Amino acid sequence: MRYLSGPANRLIEELAKLPGIGPKTAQRLAFHLLNAPPEVAHNLARALVFARDNVRYCSVCANLTDREVCQICSDPERDPTLVCVVQEPRDVVAMEKTRGYRGLYHVLQGAISPLAGVGPDDLTIKQLLARLGEGKIKEVILATNPDVEGDATALYLAQLIKPLGLKVTRIAHGLPVGAHLEYADEMTLAMALEGRREL
Ligand SMILES: [Zn+2]
Repeated sequence: MRYLSGPANRLIEELAKLPGIGPKTAQRLAFHLLNAPPEVAHNLARALVFARDNVRYCSVCANLTDREVCQICSDPERDPTLVCVVQEPRDVVAMEKTRGYRGLYHVLQGAISPLAGVGPDDLTIKQLLARLGEGKIKEVILATNPDVEGDATALYLAQLIKPLGLKVTRIAHGLPVGAHLEYADEMTLAMALEGRREL
């Protein structure tokens, strides 16, 4: 926008790079930040940089954390015989909101998708198998999304894990087909977990 100052334009450009934010929303956010008291923008910028510099992947489950081993993995109250496999860190948040699950997690960092060029080696499958090899885990709940990629990934994992003699379950299809875990309401997700079936 020629009639805006360089710094304001730069802010709009950076905001517009975020997912789900088009040029109009970027402009609205930028004007909001520029009209608000300076500390609003300063606090946001500090939180952004601090989070980016301090958040990493848990060395056990690959969830986002600010420690070497995340809070869930180091919680002694959690059931160490149960691991729930999800695609993304945001799926852990969705599962935690159900408050019905007390086991551990494993975050794959995506799903197998030949079309998008994502193969098993691009996911944290090796780490998962290493965890299972330690012998504590008795049941693996496959909670990948109920879409083509998520189902294919669950099937692939079941074929790898079942020969290890572990119980492998898939969350029930109470979830709408094609829906993403993070958008499922808590009740639906809790029921899908409750109704999981053995593969
Ligand atoms: Zn962890």
